[in-house]
Amino acid sequence: MARILVTNGEGTPGVGTAARMLAAGSGGLDAIEAGIRLVEADTTIRSVGRGGWPNLLGEVELDAAMIDGNSFRSGAVGALKGYLHPISVARAVMERLPHEMLVGEGAARFANEIEAETADNLIPDSERVWRQWFEETVSPTERERWPEVDLTALCQQAIDPEKGMDTTVFLTLDAKSEIMAGVSTSGWAWKYPGRLGDSPIIGAGCYADTRYGAAACTGTGEMAIRAGTSRAIVLYMKMGLSLAAAVDEAIDDLRRLRGGLIQRLTLHAIDCDGDHRVVTVNAEGQPSYWLWREGDEAPRAEPAEVVAL
Ligand code: ASP
Repeated sequence: MARILVTNGEGTPGVGTAARMLAAGSGGLDAIEAGIRLVEADTTIRSVGRGGWPNLLGEVELDAAMIDGNSFRSGAVGALKGYLHPISVARAVMERLPHEMLVGEGAARFANEIEAETADNLIPDSERVWRQWFEETVSPTERERWPEVDLTALCQQAIDPEKGMDTTVFLTLDAKSEIMAGVSTSGWAWKYPGRLGDSPIIGAGCYADTRYGAAACTGTGEMAIRAGTSRAIVLYMKMGLSLAAAVDEAIDDLRRLRGGLIQRLTLHAIDCDGDHRVVTVNAEGQPSYWLWREGDEAPRAEPAEVVAL
């Protein structure tokens, strides 16, 4: 089957490396990890790794996950602070622990144990924008008591679409016809501390099954969690639907969501025949993604389909 790589706009710093690795015969997990590490280290990508937006307390908490579509082993970290490459910590969870997910202090403890590279992920520009928000939004009385304040009302800031959000997602079909997925994000700017989006939740933010395909989401993770979107797409393919129909079915599930956050969500999917589909629901503007297929000299940017919910 022809090799394929799909990643989103945030994947720009890593797409070339991941495509070259797949072309040279690397396994999907290696190509995904290498690609995502480049995104995590790039401070121009404001929603992933170093340079990601902080939470309400001004701390950068990172989420990442990987899944091996052969074994269904997965590794995820959530709300990880102080490390440069959450994707590599997630991979180590998958390969070195009898667990699938670590969060918060436990994730940081494990990252330290495996000697993962530390980093101050709050870059000066993020700190400046957060401090400006803090001074404009938090009352003088609350500032005096900070951080012992009620964050629930302030948390409404986290749903402001003007604030940064996004994720990088990588889906691969490699030389051995194996299908893998990986994702990494700083989640939503000004999120409640400890909030996990869909990215570290296997089945919501990503899923892969070498027999059928893989899927990953970006955007409003709360929606993908509620609808189990990535797992749903792969399962619909298992139940006999084409890739296109499986994505339509997952979009139909999203239409049933009531209340809560209903905003933008982008669904990325590939199948075991090397086909793909990328659709954004509730798009703001025209999203695009990167596609590389075996034989292509270089990845090329493609417009995502846009569907109103
Ligand atoms: N899906 C991510 C999350 O909810 C953010 C994003 O991709 O915009 O954390």
